[in-house]
Amino acid sequence: MDLKSLIRDIPDFPKPGILFRDITTLLRDAAGLRHAIDSLADKLDGAGLNAEYIVGIESRGFIIGAALAYKLGIGFIPVRKPGKLPSLVHSVEYELEYGMDKLEVHQDALQPGSRVLIVDDLIATGGTACATAKLVQQIGCELVGFGFVVELQDLAGRQNLPDVPIVTLVEY
Ligand code: 5GP
Repeated sequence: MDLKSLIRDIPDFPKPGILFRDITTLLRDAAGLRHAIDSLADKLDGAGLNAEYIVGIESRGFIIGAALAYKLGIGFIPVRKPGKLPSLVHSVEYELEYGMDKLEVHQDALQPGSRVLIVDDLIATGGTACATAKLVQQIGCELVGFGFVVELQDLAGRQNLPDVPIVTLVEY
């Protein structure tokens, strides 16, 4: 199945000059959604990562990550923007193009040694995924890999990630 044909290009979003790859058109397509999740799950299974948890990044990482966790039969843990999680959190700060941002995870969601797979819809510069990796590694988790539906190869985001397997489905 041609997943690329289900992903829509939106010029100048969220800012002039950015070409946004919109996956909502893939998500609304029943066969496309199933194919994307099944294919990602197959590739991750093939890589033999034996993750115990998927850590999904807000917010499109929740959609892909939760479906994938269900498919793989493992738990799902949300990493969220500041102030959204109700219990005690660990947090990590990271640099954006302009300024800083923060990501949080519940303190009791992960333990040292937990085998974690980080999932998001898309990797661009890798900044978000790299910050999430730092967060789980600070806790002492074993980061076993990353999964993304889309990779924007021009931005070379994978070069910013720790040296673990990175599974992607669609490359631009
Ligand atoms: P990065 O931190 O790798 O530069 O950006 C990746 C993050 O921004 C992901 O959480 C992803 O959802 C979002 N993102 C950046 N560009 C795009 C895009 O073109 N399409 C989509 N769907 N998400 C994007």
